[in-house]
Amino acid sequence: MSAQLFRNVRVWDAVGDEAYPGEVLVEGNRIITVARGTDQIAAENAAEVVDGGGRFLMPGLVEGHCHLSFCGPSRNQDLGEIPPEEHILETCRAATLILDHGFTSAWSAASAKMRLDVVLRAEIANGHVAGPRYRAAGPEITTTGGLGDERKLHMPAESFGWIADGVTEVLRAVRLCCRENVDNEKFNVSGDEFVSHARAEIISMTEEELTAGVRAAHDWGKMTACHARAAESVKRAVRAGVDCIYHCDFADEEALDMLEAAKDRIIVGPAFGLVHNSVFEGDVVGLTRAVAERMGLPRKLEHTCATYHAMRKRGMRVVVGGDYGFTITPMGQNARDIGHFVKFFGYSPAEALRCATAVGGDLMGHRGELGVIAAGALADILLVDGDPLLDLGVLVGPQNFAFIMKDGRVHRDWRRPGMRSELLSPVAWL
Ligand SMILES: [Zn+2]
Repeated sequence: MSAQLFRNVRVWDAVGDEAYPGEVLVEGNRIITVARGTDQIAAENAAEVVDGGGRFLMPGLVEGHCHLSFCGPSRNQDLGEIPPEEHILETCRAATLILDHGFTSAWSAASAKMRLDVVLRAEIANGHVAGPRYRAAGPEITTTGGLGDERKLHMPAESFGWIADGVTEVLRAVRLCCRENVDNEKFNVSGDEFVSHARAEIISMTEEELTAGVRAAHDWGKMTACHARAAESVKRAVRAGVDCIYHCDFADEEALDMLEAAKDRIIVGPAFGLVHNSVFEGDVVGLTRAVAERMGLPRKLEHTCATYHAMRKRGMRVVVGGDYGFTITPMGQNARDIGHFVKFFGYSPAEALRCATAVGGDLMGHRGELGVIAAGALADILLVDGDPLLDLGVLVGPQNFAFIMKDGRVHRDWRRPGMRSELLSPVAWL
């Protein structure tokens, strides 16, 4: 018998709002029993009893907009300049880093090179690299001039984009990603404030291109996501059948109505960390407040906040994930976005935490069985020092995770500190 019994813990199951004294029995990679109170589950049922010392037991976090291969670029084209050999090693280190930070699942919102994600996913699945459950993506499928096209007329350049113009090229790009065995396909439908020739309210991909690409991806059994800041790009994405629509900053009432009408099939995500840091913490890359104003970044932030207040009221499933991996958004700070949901979007701490657990589990394709503490659920479990419902900041940085279990396997155990991965690299979390 390999069962583990967690006792003397406060259980937050991601279903209710409150944590309660309870016990959790795990066997293999599944949670078998969850009980309220003490001495409810007989110790004879377990090979090991873990006395949690009153710690907070919760589901593993889910990063819903993840770029493990974005290893600190300040410009998009920096990613193209990294040779593949260094790039895969950096990507593997990022995988271990975010697992150390409590993220037991990650949904990729693009890989900087075609095969980085799929190679990493296999390494994790085979137990060679410590990392989260991982849904792999290819590069962001974009158009000439769209977000991710960093070429100049006189000079080639690569970034995270795979440039495809017209239905035929988009289909070729989608199928190439399928051949290389991605899980998620990403389309850039609007521009971005960081693209001087295609700002956020520009629509860069036609409806025909997007619809054909999404349909082909679905034919191959893939999930689809898109970058959509402009109102019309959001509407296009809803009509095209995109599964996960990111940003939506400039969604108008019509776009919000369309999203709400499709909320059972669509998940949205603000990817707010990058928006937040580019306005409030841009100095580290010379993005002063004056430059940010000129680029329209504070205006975008205001729209994002208004949009996600509305998303919450309309009962949309919103996933936490903040575009971490850039110089301005160091990997490892990902959990800051949970607090941002409270401060900027009007969520309660429990609601925000659900976006980073249960909603994320839903996006990962395990609705009701990942990101929750429930009988039958997958055993992704954290024991936290402190109470995230009182202070979400305890989830930022690895120091408060006493125990991390992914898929029934222990990644960190405070009682055995030597188990902690040596691959953890230093990062300045705030
Ligand atoms: Zn992104």
